[in-house]
Amino acid sequence: MGRIAIVSAMHEELAAVLALMPDEHKQMVAGRSFALGHLNGHEVVVVLSRIGKVAAATTATVLMERFGVAQVLFTGVAGGLASDARVGDVVVATEFLQHDMDASPLFPAYEVPLYGRARFGTDPALTAALALAAQSVLQQGVLDAARLQDFGITRPQMHQGLIVSGDRFVSNRRESQQLQQSLPDALAVEMEGAAVAQVCHDYGVPFAAMRTVSDRADDDAHADFLKFVTHVASRYSAAILARFFAARA
Ligand code: SAH
Repeated sequence: MGRIAIVSAMHEELAAVLALMPDEHKQMVAGRSFALGHLNGHEVVVVLSRIGKVAAATTATVLMERFGVAQVLFTGVAGGLASDARVGDVVVATEFLQHDMDASPLFPAYEVPLYGRARFGTDPALTAALALAAQSVLQQGVLDAARLQDFGITRPQMHQGLIVSGDRFVSNRRESQQLQQSLPDALAVEMEGAAVAQVCHDYGVPFAAMRTVSDRADDDAHADFLKFVTHVASRYSAAILARFFAARA
């Protein structure tokens, strides 16, 4: 089994994952710092995707070309779109779509020109393993009740389905409602996943992704964002990845 890439959009999350790696050493490529090492005995490379689709696609391409990764895992946060995707829930992606891709009338809306598709699926086996890890971490509860209460989280749930990506932080109700109407099966919105999914598709490398819902993509989306990432999402990511790697043995 080759090296596994772990990609995240935020520093705070990455720090929690790096803390699980005893032997990490850094290599700079394309202005990005790639941390090589082991996680639970598995060879990994950990890197910040940076924010937005182009930045994330560059990072993913370097992972393929320079590090020859065998699999890619993405962890991060996202805005909840589906009414039951609440703050504190975890969404495991089964497929990705770029909500700001529109070459109509030349191509159907959302379709990536020359690919003949709008949706890029994640790897079923890797996704199932990630979902199992997420489910068991949520059930077990990584955070104490007081911390959950701080963020108004009661019973965090795991969802699986479509995540949409675009180069926009969706932070008003009008826009999130528009997205829900146009893409009724979208569970959450973020800014990198569909780009990484497309690069993984190009290289035939299995990809799986999870996002903790940090906001509802509405007018309050920016409130407590960093606090949430530090105290909730990064803890989830680290615990879910630790569980995921422990189960792989
Ligand atoms: N770095 C900035 C903001 C990060 S942008 C800060 O520190 O405040 C938000 C990141 O979280 C992106 O990487 C995106 O993938 C994800 N995200 C969370 N909520 C989102 C939303 N409502 N719309 C779009 N992306 C969101």
